[in-house]
Amino acid sequence: MRPAMLRVLGFISAVCIYACQPKITQLSNIANTKAEKISSDSADMVFSGDSLNSLGGNVGIWAPTRWQYNPERTRHFKLKHTKLEVSFNWEKQHLNGIATLTMQPYFFPQDSVILDAKGFDLHEIVLVDKISRSLSYTYDGNQIRIGLGKTYTRKDELTLRIRYTAKPNELQTKGSAAITDRRGLYFINPTGEDLHKPRQIWTQGETEASSCWFPTFDAPNVKTTQEIFITVDTAFVSLSNGQLVSSKVNKDGTRTDHWKQDKPHAPYLFMMAIGKYAVIKDKWRDKEVSYYVEPPYAPYARAIFGRTPEMMEFFSNLLDYPYPWDKYAQVVVRDFVSGAMENTSASVFMEQLQVDNRYLLDDNWDNIIAHELFHHWFGNLVTCESWANLPLNEAFATYSEYLWQQYKYGQDAADEFWQSEWEQYLNESYTKREPLIRYYYREKEDMFDSHSYAKGGLILHMLRHVLGDDAFFASLRHYLKKHQYGKAEIHDLRLAFEEVTGMDLNWFYDQWFMSPGHPELEVKHGYADGLLTVDVKQVHDTTYTPAVYRLPMMLDYWVNGQKIRQKIEINQREQSFRFAVAQKPDAVLLDGETQLVGIIRHKKTVEEWIYQLKNADKMLARRKALEELQMKTQEITPNHEVLIAATVQALNDHTWQIRQAAVQALEGRDQLEENLIDKIKNMALNDEHSLVRASAVNALSGKIKPSFFINTMKDSSYTVLVNSLYAYANSGGEDAVSYVEQFEGLQNFLVVKTLAEFYSYFKVQNKFDWFVQAMARRNSYELSYLFNYFGSYLSEQPQSVQIAGAKVLADYARRHSNYETRISAYGALVFIDEAPGVKALMEDVRKAEKDQRVLDYYRMMFKSNE
Ligand SMILES: [Zn+2]
Repeated sequence: MRPAMLRVLGFISAVCIYACQPKITQLSNIANTKAEKISSDSADMVFSGDSLNSLGGNVGIWAPTRWQYNPERTRHFKLKHTKLEVSFNWEKQHLNGIATLTMQPYFFPQDSVILDAKGFDLHEIVLVDKISRSLSYTYDGNQIRIGLGKTYTRKDELTLRIRYTAKPNELQTKGSAAITDRRGLYFINPTGEDLHKPRQIWTQGETEASSCWFPTFDAPNVKTTQEIFITVDTAFVSLSNGQLVSSKVNKDGTRTDHWKQDKPHAPYLFMMAIGKYAVIKDKWRDKEVSYYVEPPYAPYARAIFGRTPEMMEFFSNLLDYPYPWDKYAQVVVRDFVSGAMENTSASVFMEQLQVDNRYLLDDNWDNIIAHELFHHWFGNLVTCESWANLPLNEAFATYSEYLWQQYKYGQDAADEFWQSEWEQYLNESYTKREPLIRYYYREKEDMFDSHSYAKGGLILHMLRHVLGDDAFFASLRHYLKKHQYGKAEIHDLRLAFEEVTGMDLNWFYDQWFMSPGHPELEVKHGYADGLLTVDVKQVHDTTYTPAVYRLPMMLDYWVNGQKIRQKIEINQREQSFRFAVAQKPDAVLLDGETQLVGIIRHKKTVEEWIYQLKNADKMLARRKALEELQMKTQEITPNHEVLIAATVQALNDHTWQIRQAAVQALEGRDQLEENLIDKIKNMALNDEHSLVRASAVNALSGKIKPSFFINTMKDSSYTVLVNSLYAYANSGGEDAVSYVEQFEGLQNFLVVKTLAEFYSYFKVQNKFDWFVQAMARRNSYELSYLFNYFGSYLSEQPQSVQIAGAKVLADYARRHSNYETRISAYGALVFIDEAPGVKALMEDVRKAEKDQRVLDYYRMMFKSNE
């Protein structure tokens, strides 16, 4: 699974909002209103690894916590086969089901069965035999306890048939960061009332929500083959795991699709998706690959998902294990509760993936697509035996994003990904440091964090560096073959690596998988008498973190233009490394491969940083040098000219990330020299990478005449367009709104959000209808922004408009299916709560609310307003 917030954070904020949005202070201040604070979106934190590096950790905040012990689930039975027959009542949002479960006692004799089944009406439970008979049972709304009437041994097989109604909306649920709800089965726009939304049904099983729609042993260490008969109206397409065996039209005008998967997998990977879809078919080797999108996005489906067969080929070869499932389908659903989910052979994605070709000029969704695909080996073929071992699923899926970037787009792209994952983990580490493998978690949903994902992926990358590519991938192959269609815990992974390499790896696993925290190194180097000395101190807090890390890594230094690479192992709290070198090195770089999950503080001179900027082969090492030099520019220094020259050099770097970093550095300067202006104008118009063009526009904003930006508004990239609109306004273009209005026809969210900000900031008249239309088609994440701008817009409008707007917002606050969206709609009402009737309307909203999370929020907000 890929949590939506993390994904959105990494994607939208890095690519569109922060990296490229200009600094119009007045315009951005509009976001700092009271309503912003209640926005459910917490993605607005901008950070860089270095600014965090200097903060230092506070043990009091991040000390690991021990809750109750969470073991693997005891298996009393082997679940051999699950057959489901389902149909739906859209009005009531019920599923009518018959589940036929075939099982065998695991080892010990059994006379009863306990099944997970959340919030069902049970109609009948039958033991299927030559003469079938009804069984007695008790049910507490969560689990069914069924008496079998006799004792079965491990040689016996038995089949139960359960007729039930699942009522997912009547469940009491509690959300988490990764999955915002746990209903298992979701009806979208069930009665068709919402004209802007399709009718859909979809499921989300992870972690243990599949038992909200069928009875099962709902644990990741259970594996079963499956078949599902789905009866729907003929207007709908259905999708499930495995192959479509048959599709039959019934007399009553419905259709029954029979999906079957004869390779076993865990119950949390069961899925269904039902909706009106365009299905675009592709192929990998002899297997069908398909993309299910809403019909308007059919023309873009290949541009979004079309690299899937190449990924399947790449991963199959890398793992020496061909993609093991019957087919691979990918479906986009509305209002998804997470970013994406790797249901076996049928992954589900959030609607943000439905974009047009113009959007794809700035970035693509390859990472999330690779992530879900790679789970089909790590997660679906070999499954973590318990949620405590979740990194066995998520660390690998996250690392696959690196692997794909490296293979498809090159080392710089992979390093960019590495850096963003490192920052994500580091950001989390200031409030939370836990071992990766955690048996003492409070809630299983807490496992879905930047430890299991980001840090886990980075640790695998370090392991690859420790062992080398051959040993690393050979060990992965061995692990997969040894545990295929089974389950694993972290020691199984370690043992697989030890069996292949003959090495003891306890130290690595203990240090990285079983302990919290990360090392912090202070590094100094000097040269005297033909010796280069590099002093390394491990200075991290050791209250919980290993006192001394064992860190094999590379040390690079340059002499006479030649890079010399030394392999070293840091394994003491304080250590000195000495190398005989004929003359003083031009630069020294520890961890030149940029693989350490830790902080390195290395003091260097301006000359050494400049040398590193010019000569390091890793983009991240060059960018780090540039950042250090920029910090030095702000200090009073006699080398100002030298530093400017270094920036100019970076503007010409062959790597776009360095050009972008260099041009971004100029944004903060009040003025630019004439020759720099020409250079950056040229970059704004002609750089081959759209995000460099976008940053160049920002760097020029407010420093040249507005007319220049009329040209860059014609750019094919949405990001360049949007930045140009801000730059035009910021450079004194008084008719900015008339330019902005020209783009009302575009559906891209970045554009829509920009328009909303302009209309709100400039108090443009007669945009009420535009706002209402713009909000109608948007997902929850996007709505949280638009509500805020709309509220702010309304606050400057006549009372009659305010009252009309309040009705629109109150409608969202009452009726939207996502509870966070209801909160942000309510929050926007605060802008206009002085208008007649609005306070009463807000009270109505509060009274109509049933969700405890929202009610708690209203109570809190009410207090703070008093
Ligand atoms: Zn995942």
